Amino acid sequence: MSHTAIAAIEAISIAISKNKEFLTDLDAAIGDSDHGINMTRGFDAVLIKVKGLPTHTDIGTVLKTVGMTLISTVGGASGPLYGTAFLRAAALAQGISCIGSHTAVQMLEAATNGIKERGKATSGEKTMLDALEPACEAFANGIKAQKSLVECLALACDAAYKGVEYTKTIIATKGRASYLGERSLGHQDPGATSSYIMLKALADFCR
Ligand code: ADP
Ligand code: MG
Ligand code: MG
Repeated sequence: MSHTAIAAIEAISIAISKNKEFLTDLDAAIGDSDHGINMTRGFDAVLIKVKGLPTHTDIGTVLKTVGMTLISTVGGASGPLYGTAFLRAAALAQGISCIGSHTAVQMLEAATNGIKERGKATSGEKTMLDALEPACEAFANGIKAQKSLVECLALACDAAYKGVEYTKTIIATKGRASYLGERSLGHQDPGATSSYIMLKALADFCR
C-alpha cells in the first residue's frame, strides 16, 4: 500500500538526517563537506512532498515524486544521481501497491543502472556504485536461493556494507574525490555510505 511506501520513504529520510554529520564528515575528508547537508536537504523536501500525496497513491508515483524532488532540491552530484535512481525504480512500480522480491530486485537494478548511465561510472571507482552493484548481486542470489524479500534485503545490506569498506581500499576516479588521486585512499566514500544507509533503513523498515 502506498502509505507503506510513504512510511518507508519516511524511514529512509530519518536515517539520512540521523547521519547528516557523519556523511558530511566523510565528504570533508575527500570532497567538499556537503554530502550529509545535500542529502538531508533533499529528503526533508521529499518528506513534505510525499506526505502531501493522497493515501492511495501507487508506489510508482511515490517514487517518481522522490526522484523529481531530489533532482530539484539537491545541489551536487548526488541529487541527479539518486534522483535518476528513484525515477528508474518508479517506472517499474507504476500502478503497483505491493512489491514482491522479483519486482524489488528489478527496481534496485534499474536504479543502479540509472546511476551508472547518468554518472558515466562503473564499480571500482569509489562511488555509490560500489555499494549498490554488490547489493544487486546479493539480492539476485538471494532470490535464486528462494529467500524471502526480507532475507534478500538483509543480504543486499551486508553486501553494500562490504562495498563501503571496499571503497577505503581504492582510489577515486569519479566525482570530486578523484581530484585527490592517491590521497583518496583509506577513506570510505560518502555516496557509497549513504546508499548503504538507505538500503539498511529500508531493510529494517520491511522486517
Ligand atoms: P558533490 O560531490 O557534488 O559535492 P555530494 O557530496 O552530495 O556531491 O555527493 C558525492 C558522492 O557522489 C560521492 O561520494 C560519490 O559516491 C557520488 N558520485 C560522484 N560522482 C559520481 C559519478 N560520476 N557516478 C556515481 N557516483 C558519483
Ligand atoms: Mg560533496
Ligand atoms: Mg558539493
